[in-house]
Amino acid sequence: MVLSAMPMGEYDKRLTILTVERGKISVFARGARKPTSSLLACSQPFTFGEFTTYAGRNSYTVTNAQVANYFQGMRDDLTKMYLGMYFCEFADYYTREGNDEREVLKLLYQSLRALESGKYDARLVRRIFELKMISLEGEAPLVQECVCCGAKENLTHFFMRRDGVVCADCAGADLKYPKAEAVAANPFQQFPSMYQLSPSALYAMQYIVQTPSTKLFNFTLKDEALAELADVVEHYIKKHVNHEMKSLAVMEAMGM
Ligand SMILES: [Zn+2]
Repeated sequence: MVLSAMPMGEYDKRLTILTVERGKISVFARGARKPTSSLLACSQPFTFGEFTTYAGRNSYTVTNAQVANYFQGMRDDLTKMYLGMYFCEFADYYTREGNDEREVLKLLYQSLRALESGKYDARLVRRIFELKMISLEGEAPLVQECVCCGAKENLTHFFMRRDGVVCADCAGADLKYPKAEAVAANPFQQFPSMYQLSPSALYAMQYIVQTPSTKLFNFTLKDEALAELADVVEHYIKKHVNHEMKSLAVMEAMGM
């Protein structure tokens, strides 16, 4: 899948492609900006298919592409397009050449399909993608049992400082407000420490962390539960991803 496409020189493009075989690679598409080029259509973000390349000294050059899905529906809607570009940027940030990135590729593909279909609230697709992505990178929150006492029942809150859920008893203990000196030592302490989770928001988090990407998109959430999930995931991502996504800044500037 093409994650990004940058113009190069007069007629060329440099593509970043997430592949099954080689992880994330950088590829030249010579002449891809000429209107008559056979590479014109495939040299755009979200293009999914089979790319034939040859390896040069420093990079690959694409010679041919069999496109399976252009995700055309993404390009006709600004919200979908920017969100899709954000997913691609997120995937770009976490992937490397030579790594096995198949799980990220699957997640990206399924997320773009869910977004394009219009069957799911775009806000839900975004939070599912983010939480699953960070889970694939080995930073999943602990959502099956209380991070304080290990209880598996009556899980009512997300405890941001401990990266996991807590039971009602532990949430009620004196954990609610970080001390001023703790905030000074670590700016992330400014985030609220405890987030209330309704049963459906909790179940959604458990489901996202545990379920393979191919089966992720088959549920919806009511607005209140979605707001809870969005709040927790947004702050969890801010806490764990030390990188500013350009596409996210654009979305925020546009009020999306
Ligand atoms: Zn507990």
